[in-house]
Amino acid sequence: MLYYSTNLKSPAVSLREAVMRGLAEDGGLYLPELIPVLPPSFFKSIGDMTHNEVALKVARVFIGDDVPEDVLAGIIKESLDFMIPLKRFGENVYCLELFHGPTMAFKDVGARFMSRLMAYLYRNEDRALNVLVATSGDTGSAVAAGFHGVEGINVFVLFPGGKVSPLQQKQITTWGRNIYALEVDGTFDDCQKLTKQMLGDRQLSDLFNLTSANSINIARLIPQSFYYFFAFARLDTGRIDEARLPLVFSVPCGNFGNLTGGLMARAAGLPVLRFVASTNINDVFCRFMETGEYKPAASIPTISNAMDVGDPSNFVRIKDLMGNNIDNFREIITAYSYSDDDTSMAIGKLHAATDYIMDPHGAVAYLGLRQFMSEYHEAVNGIFLETAHPAKFPETMKRIIDDFDYLPPQLQEVLSREEKFHSIGNDPEELKAFIQGVNQ
Ligand SMILES: *Cc1c(COP(=O)(O)O)cnc(C)c1O
Repeated sequence: MLYYSTNLKSPAVSLREAVMRGLAEDGGLYLPELIPVLPPSFFKSIGDMTHNEVALKVARVFIGDDVPEDVLAGIIKESLDFMIPLKRFGENVYCLELFHGPTMAFKDVGARFMSRLMAYLYRNEDRALNVLVATSGDTGSAVAAGFHGVEGINVFVLFPGGKVSPLQQKQITTWGRNIYALEVDGTFDDCQKLTKQMLGDRQLSDLFNLTSANSINIARLIPQSFYYFFAFARLDTGRIDEARLPLVFSVPCGNFGNLTGGLMARAAGLPVLRFVASTNINDVFCRFMETGEYKPAASIPTISNAMDVGDPSNFVRIKDLMGNNIDNFREIITAYSYSDDDTSMAIGKLHAATDYIMDPHGAVAYLGLRQFMSEYHEAVNGIFLETAHPAKFPETMKRIIDDFDYLPPQLQEVLSREEKFHSIGNDPEELKAFIQGVNQ
């Protein structure tokens, strides 16, 4: 399988190169040159297959023959070692819970798969691979958890001092072994700039085999297509009556990697009528859908903060998958945006009606699904993606639900661990010296 750059100015590359580079030299993002459609026999038997069996068939579509069957099966087994349940919420409405991994956010799926795939692709090198990741909270913890203990790979997580929540800081700084947490005296943007400076320094990046684990990497997107098939399989087994209704997914969007995974699943043949791109007030994508003009904006802070993105990195991939045609966009995707008040109200209302507690990100997707289903003229099976456990956002949740105090065992355990991190200034030389020290 070859992967092309969305800017079309760099040559197509192998899986290994696409994963190791992350970003193409022309600044574009990688996508598979050709996405084969899964055969009807696959969709007939999908209801009888395990998650891992489904994932293996889907992974083949995007990876081709670059990874042997037993290795790919092993990567999938280790990456998806937690449940992804589909819960029913009354008439034709379902929730796909993606937050049962170690850091309790859907980013675990992509990070765990990427780490193991990288370790395999890199297996014959005698020098360590050094992975840099800048984080405002969630990405760093998922990447740290995903790479923890993976042989031959060092991970440097850069987080802005005093600007991540206490729980997030625990989730970044308590791993040890091959995970190095670096508190930067600066903002998230400074962290990101530092990693880009390191990666842009050709000499340094060759010397230390530097790469990035941010969400531009195709290895994080491939596994994010799997769970759309899982949800379809659950609806299609006959256990649920309305199985034959058209399928709609509502996705809470920030950098639009999750939605890109869904669109890749559709390109591989998954029968999806519509994707709802649900956003908070960072609504650049909604405006694009209305006007056909894409205008990045500065991001605005909200309670669904992992979606506070003013210039979604995966927009260029979605544009390609939609054949660069606004009519395709409008036929396949519907976009809505919601305020923090809308979101809080939805959480409170659903809790009062069903006892179920949504987190602020999933609640935005729930709102989008509800709106689509009320505006669409026919019955559909609607699934919204719940991307994080509500306990990750205790301050926000307590403001919405008075007696909210649940802390799942995964998070309790993290809180009891000891933090270990190094503090550096907002200075590339200090970071360089640190990386050098680790690699001696
Ligand atoms: C990252 C994140 C999102 C947004 O996902 P994208 O792939 O960036 O669109 C939504 N919810 C949660 C909880 C996240 O951590």
